[in-house]
Amino acid sequence: MNIALIAHDGRKEQIVGLATRHAAWLATCTLMATGTTGSRLKNEAGLSVECLLSGPLGGDLQIGARLATGGVDGVIFLRDPMTPQPHEPDINALVRACDVHNIPCATNLASAELLLQAWQSGKTASPLAAG
Ligand code: PGA
Repeated sequence: MNIALIAHDGRKEQIVGLATRHAAWLATCTLMATGTTGSRLKNEAGLSVECLLSGPLGGDLQIGARLATGGVDGVIFLRDPMTPQPHEPDINALVRACDVHNIPCATNLASAELLLQAWQSGKTASPLAAG
């Protein structure tokens, strides 16, 4: 599984906690992340993560481009709905790419927990992947 992980600044503590709780399974995946999120996941959750550009510098778009060509199986994107983001168009483009390509995308902690549990139990294998 190729998993992309992104968190806005107001959600970085949440994604570190989430990744730490699920570290054993995430370590079996190929992980990529926007720059600052990835650094924190490496340093604080001990995961091996490919760090792309920081979100405001184009990291979300890098993930979106990979996703569009089949290189991403799921996205955990903990967004902060209370803080305006300078790269809002990039964020919308990534979430749209998930919808276009039917890729699971969790944008809050509760959904992310459910998605991780489903992946780990193998429940999402084919029904959701089918067009
Ligand atoms: P960051 O980017 O991980 O580099 O902070 C996330 C974002 O703001 O989209």
